[in-house]
Amino acid sequence: MKIGFIGLGIMGRPMVLNLMKAGYEVAVYDIVKENVEQMAARGAEAKCSAKEASQDCEVIITMLPNSPHVKAAVLGEDGVLEGARPGRILIDMSSIAPAASREIWEACAKKQVQMIDAPVSGGEPKAIDGTMSIMAGGDKAVFDKVYDILMSMGGSAVYCGEIGAGNTTKLANQVIVALNIAAVSEAFMLSKKAGVDPQKVFEAIRGGLAGSTVMNAKVPMILAGNDKPGFKIDLHIKDLANALETGHETGAPLPMTAGVMEILQNLRADGYGQSDHSAICKYYEKLAGTTIGTEEEGM
Ligand code: NAD
Repeated sequence: MKIGFIGLGIMGRPMVLNLMKAGYEVAVYDIVKENVEQMAARGAEAKCSAKEASQDCEVIITMLPNSPHVKAAVLGEDGVLEGARPGRILIDMSSIAPAASREIWEACAKKQVQMIDAPVSGGEPKAIDGTMSIMAGGDKAVFDKVYDILMSMGGSAVYCGEIGAGNTTKLANQVIVALNIAAVSEAFMLSKKAGVDPQKVFEAIRGGLAGSTVMNAKVPMILAGNDKPGFKIDLHIKDLANALETGHETGAPLPMTAGVMEILQNLRADGYGQSDHSAICKYYEKLAGTTIGTEEEGM
């Protein structure tokens, strides 16, 4: 089976490699030519537009930053809907607003193209390992049809409900991750200022109730002063903006999300937009005048 894949960034590239490892032929497109060339060198078929990457493909996957990018690639000129034939399936694996998923699904339905939203969690390491957690929304029969494709990139794929349900689930995930990194940063700065080595705090509490996947993944980065992405602050701002918008639409209160959003905005203004979201610690480091890790005080 041939799959069209659009969006060859941090996540898209390893996902394409896992699809090819599972035996699928993959036609690829990205607006950045070097990304296409890089994947062509690994055995994918290079294409010049989303339309071209969708032609002759039974399934088309998009892995793009946010709602406007997915709308441009799917609904826009030379987009997926100009290339995909009736009966084909679009799997949008980007993390976008649930309302945008519904809008794109409606446009696809008019062209008899089926669509599910299937965002992922796990970040680059799990995209490389093919162990991402996938959360999907749409017609259950379409989800069942593409289940094997999803599982060639993920460790789990859970059907969450109608179209947009995957992205609603992903927003819940992103709220928890952002608040968790902020909580970890706040608590580890407390221990540093109060004179207890944060490395010892990590060793002591990681196996207890406060321990988490976020703590295990991000505290070593925070202690090493490493903010190489991973998952960029700019993308987390996008997710929290979508969460706040969805909360306002549905009446869900998100006071803590709104607070962490302000921290992220402050970090972006300080030039950390392209840093890993573990750089939330930098906000606390600025306020406290010291680093959580081993670097010298008086920054
Ligand atoms: P990225 O910025 O590294 O990659 C996005 C790619 O899309 C880029 O290569 C860009 O050139 C391309 N692109 C943008 N507009 C395009 C268009 N119109 N047509 C074709 N290509 C276009 O982002 P990423 O980290 O790979 O994330 C992709 C999605 O996955 C985002 O929604 C993100 O929130 C989500 N996600 C990321 C992670 C992570 O850890 N990086 C984890 C889970 C989910």
